[in-house]
Amino acid sequence: MKRFFADSMLGRLALWMRVAGFDVEYENAIDDAELVKRARESGRTILTRDTLLARRRWVRDNHLFIENDHYGKQLEQVISVYGYEGDRFLTICLRCNVALETIEKGLVRDRVPSYVYSTHESFSTCPICRRIYWGGTHREEMKRELEEILKASHKAKIKQLTGERDEST
Ligand SMILES: [Zn+2]
Repeated sequence: MKRFFADSMLGRLALWMRVAGFDVEYENAIDDAELVKRARESGRTILTRDTLLARRRWVRDNHLFIENDHYGKQLEQVISVYGYEGDRFLTICLRCNVALETIEKGLVRDRVPSYVYSTHESFSTCPICRRIYWGGTHREEMKRELEEILKASHKAKIKQLTGERDEST
């Protein structure tokens, strides 16, 4: 799976890419030299709106220049270039950018609100920050917004984020 490093102007894009399940590093205060070094060492493609950064050596051949200011349009652009399959919704920790792991319901009893515990069956957790994730209102809103973005993007091979893929494209 392709991995990315978003420049410091692309925080919302990075967040929404993680919601969609892309592996994307992001730091809001990182200088260009450090960003390039880390992207290069970890084999990540740089996403940038900075023409000077895009012209640097190595970066020239390893970046996608993001054309729009709006994160929805930006995500559309990323997907139209690199494609997307819709079975990765909320599979990555939005804070740490690592894959979530499923966790037994019994183990989260004391770590989530009791109404959440009593109304949900499946939970996942981040191996780094230990945050617990579950389905819920917030998740439904994110899913709807992501679906809106994906609908506009021709290369997203999905009908719904719940897993049904469109094989005709
Ligand atoms: Zn985390």
